[in-house]
Amino acid sequence: MTHLWWARRDLRLDDNPALLSAQEGSPAAAVFAWTPALHFWSGRRRAHLARVLWSLREDTGGALAVRRGEAADAVLAAARQADATAVWASQEYTPSGVREQKHVAAALEADGRELRMIGSPYAVAPGRVTKGDGTPYRVFTPYRGAWREHGWRSPAAPADADAFVRLPRDSADADLDQIAAHADAEDPLERTEEFRERRVREDLEAFVDDRVEHYGDERDRPDLDSTSRLSSALAFGLVHPRTVLALTGAVDHPAARTFESEIAWREFHADTLWHEPQARRESLSTVVLEDDWATGAEADAAFVAWRDGRTGFPLVDAGMRQLASTGWMHNRVRMVVASFLVKDLHLPWQRGADYFRRALVDYDHAQNQLNWQWVAGTGRDASPYFRVFNPETQAGKFDPHRRYVERWVPELDTPAYPAPMVDHKVERERALELNRRAKARV
Ligand code: FAD
Repeated sequence: MTHLWWARRDLRLDDNPALLSAQEGSPAAAVFAWTPALHFWSGRRRAHLARVLWSLREDTGGALAVRRGEAADAVLAAARQADATAVWASQEYTPSGVREQKHVAAALEADGRELRMIGSPYAVAPGRVTKGDGTPYRVFTPYRGAWREHGWRSPAAPADADAFVRLPRDSADADLDQIAAHADAEDPLERTEEFRERRVREDLEAFVDDRVEHYGDERDRPDLDSTSRLSSALAFGLVHPRTVLALTGAVDHPAARTFESEIAWREFHADTLWHEPQARRESLSTVVLEDDWATGAEADAAFVAWRDGRTGFPLVDAGMRQLASTGWMHNRVRMVVASFLVKDLHLPWQRGADYFRRALVDYDHAQNQLNWQWVAGTGRDASPYFRVFNPETQAGKFDPHRRYVERWVPELDTPAYPAPMVDHKVERERALELNRRAKARV
């Protein structure tokens, strides 16, 4: 009897409980659903995914089928072709992931088949770590303590790259070459190593061996290549956080613990969204009254200047240009540009989060929405609203030699560079005033 592996955000052979279960006892078929929702992604992110799938298909000896259509249709059709009564998949915890797996389970069940879920994109699945009274943690530090105490399993053995069966060709098969070429015309599908889990693993090992010890001191410096750059691999599941933690856990240095805390933030945000799915759009607390957010033509023009990196604040502009041209931005700069949008331009965080969703290659629903809420001061354990990032001070502190801003804003010291679009001191006062009004009302 063949089982089917429904590949989701776990696009790897290593340490993959869903795939291992599907292969137990006999070879497995494998399918990934290229759903209509992917059309809302940026071309760059779609092209990235196409390359990851291309590489994984090669690593499975050509067995991974990538099918266009809603997940319920693609998975059911593949299960029928494979004659699989059981479909194995990793569990999702975001509102859309949960909805999707419900639809798939219902379609399979109506056809006499079963969806079995094992594993998740997290070391500790959302909902597992709770306070003594069973309620979720709302503050990060105690969550992290309980998360560490809960612990996680050791990484599972790699799946067998030869134990796959190929599904027959199908009219719904997606043409990955075409997707990559269409989505990202300037950067057609390259069969490079970069998108393979093997390469991610090598890069991760190099980071842990050579650089993690400097992470504590250097991680806030956008001018240095000091962070792991693992975010897109984690977002697509080319590596599991358990694998990352097993490697860093062997390093006896405080910087390795700092790095692990960032993985814990990833898990905390996923946990928060699981418990409070409304956090995907709604502020978890009110810092500015709905009617006080900027709207209208002026607000739209301000948004465009922010988006295009033409605010006249070099660190903000450098970050937005790095994002537009690479699909990634350094974490410190993400915080600065997000603060600028919310507290200098008085635009609601959702507007910035929507743009990030379209632009980031490492976009992850829980991380993006909850990080935006953190900066905006609206999250559960958020930066206090009154802490307003000063983009000039931040630049001086974290880009002391101006290497980062000069790289992304080459016209910086020429007349072509715009003057600051706002007076930061004035807008900071306005932000605090809006906050006082909200506090008086709620
Ligand atoms: P490293 O510093 O090497 O960290 C290692 C890993 O830890 C990261 O890959 C990531 O998985 C996790 N991590 C690090 N910082 C955070 C954090 N603040 N919150 C949650 N997890 C973290 N990260 C995403 O993966 N996807 C997003 O859509 C996303 N949107 C963001 C939006 C805003 C406004 C902000 C302020 C942050 C956002 N982040 C997001 C978090 C963070 O900026 C990125 O994870 C990090 O910059 C990725 O680079 P890295 O892998 O080199 O990070």
